[in-house]
Amino acid sequence: MKTCKRLAALLLALLMAFSLFACGAKNSEPETGKKYIIASDNAFAPFEYLDTETNAYVGIDMDILKAIAEDQKFDYEVQNVGFDAALNQVQSGQADGVIAGMTITDERKLTFDFSEGYFDAGQILVVPANSDIKGLEDLKGTNVAVKISTQGADYAQSIAKEYGFEVTTYEDSPTMYQAVIQGTNSACFEDDPVARYSIQSQNLELKVVGDVINAKPYGFAAKKGENSELIDMFNAGLVNIKANGVYDEILAKYGY
Ligand code: GLN
Repeated sequence: MKTCKRLAALLLALLMAFSLFACGAKNSEPETGKKYIIASDNAFAPFEYLDTETNAYVGIDMDILKAIAEDQKFDYEVQNVGFDAALNQVQSGQADGVIAGMTITDERKLTFDFSEGYFDAGQILVVPANSDIKGLEDLKGTNVAVKISTQGADYAQSIAKEYGFEVTTYEDSPTMYQAVIQGTNSACFEDDPVARYSIQSQNLELKVVGDVINAKPYGFAAKKGENSELIDMFNAGLVNIKANGVYDEILAKYGY
């Protein structure tokens, strides 16, 4: 009987010690070992683009993510795979999240969870610098370039019949611009800040025409129902970097 009690006491003590240890380990290292893979676009200045001098991807998205990760103390690695590939990587579980100038839409909310918006942008019509096209009415009988899986592509497809134009889909923004510059296509739809920044910084023979279409916030996203802690950290970090001025500094660095 006595040994039985002793054994029980010993077991209890061991159990308590173990649970204490387990708790302690959990509390002191909340995210150890976890390195989030974040997918992004690869040519979407000023949000993410290759800095040819440093051979690193830079931009508003890259800087915001870095500042938020520092603030929230999580480890991550960015894979700049292109917009369509980035969305696919998140859906297939190859990436934990995506930051890519991605517009928050109701349709995407069916398959993605979004953070709060961190930047507002809509699309705009982009034409060759010497083009007579002034608006949608002038697209009749022409072929318009779009970038796969984007809001610009959705919009073009939704009005193509009404305005009587064809649509050609390209893999990325630079290829789409070149198709317009070379005259393969009459125009393209691109996010307004990206079109303006690219035309100016790369001296492209293009111009924007008409009004900004469907202005909406960009959000950080994860696959629906997965990585909610990542969305929470992004939101918490965004509040902090807005409060401490870092967010404004980042935008100012890219001319906003
Ligand atoms: N904002 C646009 C969208 O979400 C384009 C994004 C992009 O090309 N990186 O569809």
